[in-house]
Amino acid sequence: MKQDVIELDGAIGGGQVLRSGLSLAMVTGLTLRIKNIRARRSRPGLMRQHLTAVLAAAHVCGATVQGAELGSQNLLFEPGPIQGGEYRFAIGTAGSCTLVLQTLLPALLRAPTTSRVTISGGTHNPLAPPVDFLQRAWLPLLRRMGARVELNLIRYGFVPAGGGEVEAFIQPSDLQALQLMQCGKLLEKRAIVLNAGLADQVSEREFKRVRQRLGFTQAQLFPIDIDPQQGPGNVLMLEYVHAQVTEVFSAFGMTTVRAEAVADEAINQAMEWQGTDTAVGEHLADQLLLPMALAGGGRFTTPHMSEHLHSNTTVIQRFLPVVIESRVREEGGLLVECRRV
Ligand code: ATP
Repeated sequence: MKQDVIELDGAIGGGQVLRSGLSLAMVTGLTLRIKNIRARRSRPGLMRQHLTAVLAAAHVCGATVQGAELGSQNLLFEPGPIQGGEYRFAIGTAGSCTLVLQTLLPALLRAPTTSRVTISGGTHNPLAPPVDFLQRAWLPLLRRMGARVELNLIRYGFVPAGGGEVEAFIQPSDLQALQLMQCGKLLEKRAIVLNAGLADQVSEREFKRVRQRLGFTQAQLFPIDIDPQQGPGNVLMLEYVHAQVTEVFSAFGMTTVRAEAVADEAINQAMEWQGTDTAVGEHLADQLLLPMALAGGGRFTTPHMSEHLHSNTTVIQRFLPVVIESRVREEGGLLVECRRV
């Protein structure tokens, strides 16, 4: 028997522990009590993006909340019934819109009616999934599980300026188990550089590195110029379209980091994934786990156990009657399996 209040120690990870806890509290109806929110981060507690996720989640299910303040490391979240409808949330900074959306999506898939959610803030943030990743990598897999979701980018938002916006349409849907043992045959690959207000040289140097290290041809390079008013912003994305999975690896330009080093960050992620011949990369892995657990099962292969995959495993097993097991494969990489108990 599950208890009515689930207590989590947020110090086992970062903001994702909170967001997964909120999603799971909404779908199970269990109360979430969480302490030490982001305790090991340099600026602990709720930042704007996290606070927006809490308030948005509370709005969607009429929750009673204590501790929803900037900097708070303790939160009590007592969910009510999930309601679909028209929602608009503003983070107010360049905090990640995609992370707020991911918090709400599991609940809105179980709402009695369809929803339209508009979120403003950052759309392409370091250490968060870029909108392109959700659109081309994560959501296609969720759709294969049965989720009926569309996501549109309305306006780009980069760090630090923000000002971006996304819009999602969500229809009530049941999720089915998914098996992802291999990514399948490579069908297409492309490198995309978003450039908002930076010298063309930055994109050129990133592309040069991608050609040198990954052998991309000129025809596989796609520079996208964005209105400088929405910048400054620079993002490199490497997209690999395979028969079973599309992966998007990204890296973000910063004033203190050379263009070649930015490119290397995305390239290294792609190479690690390809080197283990697994189905999904590090980020897809931790983001697939919750939908799989809600579907009652599934499995995938991925290069390694990340902090996010580990902490998400812990949080999910606290709320749902599932077992999540990971084992190192002889041929390399990890097999992660989720099943109902
Ligand atoms: P904190 O500041 O507490 O670390 P946060 O709220 O920004 O946290 P995390 O807990 O670090 O968030 O979770 C970030 C999420 O973003 C994880 O699911 C991670 O896989 C995902 N993520 C990070 N970088 C990328 C990327 N380049 N592509 C796709 N997903 C990413």
